[in-house]
Amino acid sequence: MHFYDDESDELAKRILERAMERIQMDPPPLDGSRSLSELQRLVGQTIRPEGRNGLEVLEEFVSVLAPSCISVDHPLFLSFVPGAPTESSVLFDLMVSASNIYGGSWLEGAGAVYVENQAMRWLADLAGMPASAGGVFVSGGSAGNLSALIAARHRWRERANGSLDRTRPLILGTGGAHSSISQAATAMDADYLRCATDGRGKSSGADMRALVDSLSVEDRRRVCALVATAGTTNLGVVDDVAGVADVAGEIGTWFHVDGAYGAAALCAPSVRHLFNGIERCDSLIVDPHKWLFAPYDCCALIYRDPAHARRAHTQHAEYLDVLQQDEPGDEAWNPSDLAHHLSRRTRGLPFWFSLAMHGTEAYADAMEETLRVSREIAAVIDETPHLELLMQPELSIVVFRRRSWTAKQYQQWSDRLLAEGRAFIVPSSMRGETMLRLCIVNPRTTTAELSEVLRTLE
Ligand SMILES: *Cc1c(COP(=O)(O)O)cnc(C)c1O
Repeated sequence: MHFYDDESDELAKRILERAMERIQMDPPPLDGSRSLSELQRLVGQTIRPEGRNGLEVLEEFVSVLAPSCISVDHPLFLSFVPGAPTESSVLFDLMVSASNIYGGSWLEGAGAVYVENQAMRWLADLAGMPASAGGVFVSGGSAGNLSALIAARHRWRERANGSLDRTRPLILGTGGAHSSISQAATAMDADYLRCATDGRGKSSGADMRALVDSLSVEDRRRVCALVATAGTTNLGVVDDVAGVADVAGEIGTWFHVDGAYGAAALCAPSVRHLFNGIERCDSLIVDPHKWLFAPYDCCALIYRDPAHARRAHTQHAEYLDVLQQDEPGDEAWNPSDLAHHLSRRTRGLPFWFSLAMHGTEAYADAMEETLRVSREIAAVIDETPHLELLMQPELSIVVFRRRSWTAKQYQQWSDRLLAEGRAFIVPSSMRGETMLRLCIVNPRTTTAELSEVLRTLE
């Protein structure tokens, strides 16, 4: 098993060939999901005691298994939050896999962690965070939010010198907060409250202040973090980040910004102002696997002062103590210590490689392109009598209605588009009403193609 022979050689060639074919597809087929019984019929039991020919297993993957997954990077995959990795980031992901670097500690992964940190620095600078800021790439926004909030809770308890060690923490979020914040609160056994929003799903500093004012003195002491959303997932709006930062400052609480989707647009001059105040956060997350053209999985988790994260997350064990230094300096930058994990893939590297190769200006251009298409398609919708644009997009999520359609009609339309391999647009809802939502993160998505698809709504 652990040797390289002629068979390995042939397998290597075929894997690289197949991988190249997939990377070169422009666009890749949309493909579709298959039921368990279909997959059982088509491939059945793939693992056998005696093993199988690798080429045969590979072909099964290429011809049946991979096409049983919807292509998130198809330009007309517009549901949820898609991804659109650059060719170079995907190619470099192959390299990262081949190198199998342990990314948990500086001792073992110095060269990789060094450049991961440069990619992180680009994001920290875009946000206007201080030179002391730093963080780690974790698997996704949910993992990033949880780790940031654990650090927030740790600081809250630490500052209370033991007086809050047995007190249940309270996390305050904005109205459009992602489900992973509530999930993090559950995992942390914390209470969780959300403030009001305006009609567009945005929360202001006043909304957050009203929530804080409604708390008893006792509950106010339980607040360990305030969370603002920089780009809500359903409607794509940015909270009044500066306003929420003010409230966090007033009550002396950790301020976390969840920018998993939206903070990618920090690099786009046309919308940068929406994020003003983000520079005051104690922690920030943004997912390069969403709107920064990196493959799964990749979330940048950045702290204003990584020392707090270190105190909350560092694992101590006889066999690990060699990694810790008395005076944490450059040489003691252990990504493991900054989140709830230990072993880690250097998942920031595909993002770093693509940034290094194309340069940050290309990122700003690609981002502006997706924003431009979002505005254009919003205008097309606005001009179409049987469609109703529900709001002007702030970022790249466009929400609208097909007048007089029922939930069932939306679903049937969506199913038909996917079955035809044409587009993947699932219905969502706004204030309890079914609507359609386009999330545009792919610079290959064009207004013309999108308009064609919308014509099928007649
Ligand atoms: C997508 C998203 C998350 C969760 O990120 P994952 O990478 O899917 O775990 C969290 N917050 C927001 C605002 C998101 O859009």
